[in-house]
Amino acid sequence: MRKTLMALALLAGFGVADAAGPRGGGGGGAGGGGTTTPVLSIVEATDLTYMRQEEKMARDVYLSMYALWQVPTFSNIASSEQSHMDAILKLLQKYGLPDPAAGLVVGEFRDGELQTLYDQLVATGSDTELAGLQVGGLIEEVDMLDIADAIQRSTKADIDEVYGKLLCGSRNHLRAFAAQIEVRTGTSYVAQVMEQAAVDAIVDSPRERCD
Ligand code: MN
Ligand code: MN
Repeated sequence: MRKTLMALALLAGFGVADAAGPRGGGGGGAGGGGTTTPVLSIVEATDLTYMRQEEKMARDVYLSMYALWQVPTFSNIASSEQSHMDAILKLLQKYGLPDPAAGLVVGEFRDGELQTLYDQLVATGSDTELAGLQVGGLIEEVDMLDIADAIQRSTKADIDEVYGKLLCGSRNHLRAFAAQIEVRTGTSYVAQVMEQAAVDAIVDSPRERCD
């Protein structure tokens, strides 16, 4: 899923205007005592732009699922996704990148493929309450894989710190969805895209503080 979405983000030209310059940020050196505006690589800019939309995807699906099923887990986690969206927006602004979610309402995506993905996730989750919770687990697993990839590609400490908080949040979210699923099925949560052992290690460990 991610590779397709990354390609689309590149095609859409998000935030690459300044990205061709020299590697900026941390070690820049030039004197004068002024602060130089840090510059992101194309990959860092694309990842950041994508992550804003991925967090919106999570928030919007959970808001839709809460409206359907009234399971508090959905609304609680939607609030957390809003804070993740806010944290990414701050970074986009810091690095002078446009907000790909600007002006969009819940459930609305500028990118056609993201819109289709959202529609599919909501359709799947609208089948049953359990299906909705499974969609939650799927979103969290995909998020964790994508964030881990983005951390590997980023050379910026401030970005990695935010990604780390998002990752921590996703682990808690997966724990919450897995618990809700296990209550309803009486069986252990089955990994959907991550390795089962990695999912088990998360689900079997206690909730974390992420701030
Ligand atoms: Mn999140
Ligand atoms: Mn999440």
